[in-house]
This record gives sequence, C-alpha cells and structure tokens, in this order.
Amino acid sequence: MTSAFDAPGDWLKGNLHLHTTVSDGEKTPQQAVDGYREHGYDFLSITDHDRVVDVDELDGGGMTLVHGIEIAPPGAELGQTIHMVGIGMSGEPEKVEGEMAQQALDRLNTLAQVSFVAHPSWSSLTFADILPLEGIIGVEVFNTTCRRGIGRGTSEVQWDECLARGREFFGLAVDDAHCHYDDLYGGWVMLRAEENTREAICAALAAGHFYASSGPTIEHVAIDGETLRVECSPCVEVFAVCPMPGRGTTNWRIGGGREAATAFDLPLRAGTDPIRIVVIDEAGRRAWTNPFWLD
Ligand SMILES: [Zn+2]
Ligand SMILES: [Zn+2]
Repeated sequence: MTSAFDAPGDWLKGNLHLHTTVSDGEKTPQQAVDGYREHGYDFLSITDHDRVVDVDELDGGGMTLVHGIEIAPPGAELGQTIHMVGIGMSGEPEKVEGEMAQQALDRLNTLAQVSFVAHPSWSSLTFADILPLEGIIGVEVFNTTCRRGIGRGTSEVQWDECLARGREFFGLAVDDAHCHYDDLYGGWVMLRAEENTREAICAALAAGHFYASSGPTIEHVAIDGETLRVECSPCVEVFAVCPMPGRGTTNWRIGGGREAATAFDLPLRAGTDPIRIVVIDEAGRRAWTNPFWLD
C-alpha cells in the first residue's frame, strides 16, 4: 500500500467534521467556511447532524467544499449511539428510527464516497462496536471538541484494538466544531491529493493518503527495509506503535531528549507490521501517521 509520503500530488489541509446553525452549531455555514479559509485550509466538509448542507450555495473562496453529514444510530455496547460521518455525499439519506449501525451505515454509503466512525472515546465505544462495521475507512483518532469539551479527545486505544484484530483502519483528526467553546482549528488531516477537487480528496481519503494532526507537521516517513526514518517539525518525542495481530500492542520510543529534533530513526525488527508513528511537540500536540503495512 502506497503511503501518503510516497503518493503523487501536493499536501492539502482540511477539516472533515463540523457543525453549523443547520444543526447544533453556532456559526452559519458561510461563517464557518470563511473562518477555515482565513486559517489557510484547502478543503472543508460541513457535517451537520442528519442534514446535508448544500455547499454549492456557499462561497468557498478557493477552498474546496465537500458535502457531508453525521448520523448516530443506536446500539453501542455501553449504551451510546454510534456516530458516523459521511463525506462526498450525493444526497441526504433518509433517517430510519431504530435502524442499527450497519444498516444505517449501508444506507449512508449509498450516497457517501467515504465514511468513518466519529469520536469513539466521547461515545464510550468499545472495539467490539467498531470492529464488525463494514464500509468505513477508519476512526477519528483525535476530535477537538471532545478534547476541549470533556477532555477525551483521542481514541488511539480503540483504533489500535481494531488494528490488532486485523482491520486496516486509518486514523483521522477533526474539529467537530460546534463553537460552544474554543473548538476550531485544533485537529485536521494533511492529505496528499493530485488535485484539490472533491473527487481527488475522496479518492485520497479512501486510499489512506493522509496523516492526522493536532499541531506537528510530518514532512516525510521513509522505510528502507531495515530502518524507518521520520522527518517532522520540531518534536520532543516520537513513538512507533505496532499493534501486532496476535501479539498485543507494542510501542517503542524512538526519539526524545530534552531538545526538540526534526529527524528520528527506528531500526525495524521482524514482525513489526503494521506500524504507525506518533510525533509529539513541546506543547504536547500530536500528529499520527496511518499504519504502514510492510508485509
Ligand atoms: Zn458526533
Ligand atoms: Zn459531530
């Protein structure tokens, strides 16, 4: 599988999860679009609850606007609903009361280009809720509004549990901004796409050609068979996470001293497959690569 770092195209910054006054957010769709454009984003998806905002009616000002939605069917193991985001919507799916997660996801995917599970930690989802879902590209590994609102922004554990059981899931960072408090511009994906169009964005998402960030930039990850080298904005810690099927999750600290550095090397061992990288800057902000399936 080609990684984002070896894929053709340019890096695009985007947020794929956002609420407006069309559901329970505080900014109008156009106000939200204007804010992201002013903050240098290249693409944006508005994902109101059970509603697809017609972004063709908005002025993106050069930013690509992608139709999106968030649904929340019931049935999670611990009693919550299972929130899922659909991107690249070609219409608005009917909401069928009582429909369980896979049925609702199947209905969503008749209209979506790409779907993923939102904020597992906020929803108290277990891996057992996510593991059987067919038709998702992955899970939100970071969600700004969950971080600011309840202090449960990351969902690395649920992601790794699914990886360890053989699911090839990607990890996304999003804002999920509602603007009830400071939840804008804190989580995003850096996507490698051949052009800044809806079609290319959705294709790159489906291919996993992106990494997730709440701050750091990952310039490059190179794997030559014996060594994995990470180049990034100044970071103080780097971890390799290897949720090996059948052998549990194993992490290695591959960098980190008192000084921030911009290059880190990990000697690869046999059986470290898949492997994903986390970099952490001095402010504690993280960036997460998708897993590398080395075979
Ligand atoms: Zn949600
Ligand atoms: Zn949401």
